[in-house]
Amino acid sequence: MPESLRFLTRGRLCKRIYTKHGILYLGVYLGYDELLDRAFEMLPKLSAENVDFKIPVADSLIQGNKTLVKNISQMADTARRSKEEIARYLTKEIAAPISIDGQTLSIGAKIQPGELNEKIKRYFETYIVCKECHKPDTKVAETQRGYVVIVCEACGAIYTVKNYQ
Ligand SMILES: [Zn+2]
Repeated sequence: MPESLRFLTRGRLCKRIYTKHGILYLGVYLGYDELLDRAFEMLPKLSAENVDFKIPVADSLIQGNKTLVKNISQMADTARRSKEEIARYLTKEIAAPISIDGQTLSIGAKIQPGELNEKIKRYFETYIVCKECHKPDTKVAETQRGYVVIVCEACGAIYTVKNYQ
């Protein structure tokens, strides 16, 4: 007797029909938005009890006209992104030249710790911490259509990000 199940495979919403002759797959290709909707529907519901990730705090000091961030490597490790990516984000946010010298990020402007950490926090909230399960286990990927998406390796959530550099 036929029995069906809807599932996603390679951008298609499929119906799997079991017949006495074998399994029949009926597929329909979905648009990007529909695909995302379906992907969200299929996500497991997660409880908030696994939320234990803390956004790192910049260890910074102002020296002359510069601000030095001494724990950029640690922040990059926590984010699982490169130091350069964080530097690019901060360059845009602060509109000042930024260079990396070994473990130290050097910003060509005086930035108070409060302001700097506000930007770091926003970076993590936008690009690192999964909006569904709040874990930092995300990576950046690009869809076939060229959308930049954040993919969570912990819960499978996929969502788009704007202005990703
Ligand atoms: Zn997640």
